[in-house]
Amino acid sequence: MALIVQKFGGTSVGNPERIKNVAGTVIKEKLAGNQVVVVVSAMSGQTDQLIGLCRQISDNPSKREMDMMVSTGEQVTIALLAMALIDQGHDAISYNGWQVGIRTTAEYSKAKILDIDTKLMRESLAAGKIIVVAGFQGIDMKNNITTLGRGGSDTTAVAVAAALKADRCDIYTDVDGVYTADPRIVPDARRLDRISHDEMLELASMGSKVLHDRSVIFAMKYNVPLRVVSSFAEGPGTLIVKESADMEDVLISGIAKKDNEVRVNIAGIPDKPGVASTIFKQLADANINVNMIVQSVGKEGHSQISFTVINTDLDEAKKVMAKLQTELGAESVTYDADIAIVSVVGVGMKVYAGIAAAVFDELAKNSINLEMISTSEIKISVVIRKADAEKTVQALHKRFFLQA
Ligand code: ASP
Ligand code: MG
Repeated sequence: MALIVQKFGGTSVGNPERIKNVAGTVIKEKLAGNQVVVVVSAMSGQTDQLIGLCRQISDNPSKREMDMMVSTGEQVTIALLAMALIDQGHDAISYNGWQVGIRTTAEYSKAKILDIDTKLMRESLAAGKIIVVAGFQGIDMKNNITTLGRGGSDTTAVAVAAALKADRCDIYTDVDGVYTADPRIVPDARRLDRISHDEMLELASMGSKVLHDRSVIFAMKYNVPLRVVSSFAEGPGTLIVKESADMEDVLISGIAKKDNEVRVNIAGIPDKPGVASTIFKQLADANINVNMIVQSVGKEGHSQISFTVINTDLDEAKKVMAKLQTELGAESVTYDADIAIVSVVGVGMKVYAGIAAAVFDELAKNSINLEMISTSEIKISVVIRKADAEKTVQALHKRFFLQA
């Protein structure tokens, strides 16, 4: 008997009919002789609606109360799915995150899972029940309800699978796997049979919405066999696997686009040791994640630093930057939300030279202006105008995938 964790996203549980269908998929796994734990998201659009309600009450809603509010979306779906399973003759029980001991850090709206107490889940499984767990939510050390960040139900599923040492974690979603690019932007994008953890992590953190980035970290760290499959059509999906030597034969695995980041520029700062450290320490202390960073060469004792932050952190970032401007005597702090980041990812970059050059050449040919660049061993990211984002993804996809 295997232990399987299945996760269903918002579209898959988008209405009562679909929830009944999901019950069918769950039952199939159970009838195959397996123990099943199901993790669900809120019904599609629900989380946005809950956030919208909060914003009608306050321009700057309390973060604790926001998490209290948005975590309710998942409570609706766990109850409905458990009901559907019971209705179809199966023993099922739903649990909120806190009921199954999903302990997190105390960071509202971006909490990280620290520990899961598996006792209750093991008891329920031993009693032959199908367990339905609310994704996205947890509880901090002081018993406050927290959420894991948008798309965080994937992370709940993989973390639960890791804690229970599940044999497999299947992420059921509205696409039939991980693609070389978003098929809505690139119609001839291809489904990948498999992708390495590192590549998936880079794609997820750089804008691919198929998997929540932290879910990939859990899968990698705890060796959870992870698969992305469609809830609407049968198919092999995409396996997220350990990197193997033959993967380097493939130049590029995917292209991702991120358009929810804002560039912050602080200019006229003293060009001396400790300045960058002051800036990024204060941002880190305010729990603001910084993505791309570029510092220009100093002139006449002054320099400037640009970096990007996610737009949901912008209000907080502005407070920190105002304080820093005074503290450092900076000339100006400016914000630009009209940017997008496009990233090309592939383990093949480790062995093939010239990929960065090919990226820049393609942008030049398309008269797209490059504003910031950052690279890692397996990724090249460029900041461009938001209006150029789709065109950039299409051009790069053509360049790297057409001939293959
Ligand atoms: N319901 C949450 C969201 O919309 C979590 C999830 O769907 O994974 O972001
Ligand atoms: Mg998702």
